[in-house]
Amino acid sequence: LVRLRERLSRSQGGLGRGLLALLSRDRLDEDTWESIEDTLLTADIGVGPTQELVDNLRSRLRVQGGDAPDPRAVLREELVKLVGPDLDRRLQVTGTDGNPGVVLVVGVNGAGKTTTVGKIARILVAQDHTVTLGAADTFRAAAVDQLATWGERVGVDVVRGPEGSDPASVAFEAVKTAAAQGVDTVLVDTAGRLQNKAGLMDELGKVKRVIEKQAPVTEVLLVLDATTGQNGLIQARVFSEIVDVTGIVLTKLDGSAKGGIVVQVQRELGVPVKLVGLGEGADDLAPFDPGAFVDALLG
Ligand code: GDP
Repeated sequence: LVRLRERLSRSQGGLGRGLLALLSRDRLDEDTWESIEDTLLTADIGVGPTQELVDNLRSRLRVQGGDAPDPRAVLREELVKLVGPDLDRRLQVTGTDGNPGVVLVVGVNGAGKTTTVGKIARILVAQDHTVTLGAADTFRAAAVDQLATWGERVGVDVVRGPEGSDPASVAFEAVKTAAAQGVDTVLVDTAGRLQNKAGLMDELGKVKRVIEKQAPVTEVLLVLDATTGQNGLIQARVFSEIVDVTGIVLTKLDGSAKGGIVVQVQRELGVPVKLVGLGEGADDLAPFDPGAFVDALLG
């Protein structure tokens, strides 16, 4: 939590502080509300949610003088409400009927998939889960090597095929091996060449279908780079057409002033942000907690 606060307050360019300064003015005139709107839009909260938030703030902060509510408390409450305090953000990492849990990790190249797989593995191992990694991004030898390095680092098995082998068969093999060994969770890293949408659609669809001959996929995590703003949203839409995304991992929140993207992407896809990436290190992944997130924004 301390790290979340440090990393976010460094990168969010004082979104929360800016809003608080505006809301604490003696008179909340139209110019002030416009500045508040601009500040929210700059943080990528999106037009609809910004309007909603400003409407709520306006009606709740109308009272001025002695009985005026504390703007900080009101802002905190409204931001938390916007982020969705009641969404179920637990990862489905355990399978049923003796099957391993299968987590498919998707997203464009460079979003942080492989790193996220490594970090999730580390968290699960720390919780005494057994884990196998499947290197189904067979198109890029470097991606397979990178995953293998994470496997060594975290101390879990990595199932890989020769370069250029069929991603679905590698994924199948990973789940089969894990099932035979009684492993709790398989994390499957996939390819993300968005240039060829039809090809990617075929590939990811097949990976999922073939895995499910062995065991149900329990979670499909879409990894999105928070620094890519609206582009990230477009990618999110494409991936959600290809596979049924069940959760979002927002990476590089440490380097982004666009934390508001959390709100937009959840609305866009109708699925919760479950994890956030806060750096390149092995421990820089945290469950997403709306209250802690808003507190970090408010500094
Ligand atoms: P992939 O192509 O989607 O598998 O992406 P990678 O896992 O290879 O990550 C791409 C780059 O982003 C690497 O240099 C990672 O170290 C970096 N990265 C991943 N997650 C984060 C994060 O949360 N914060 C920061 N600052 N960098 C990250």
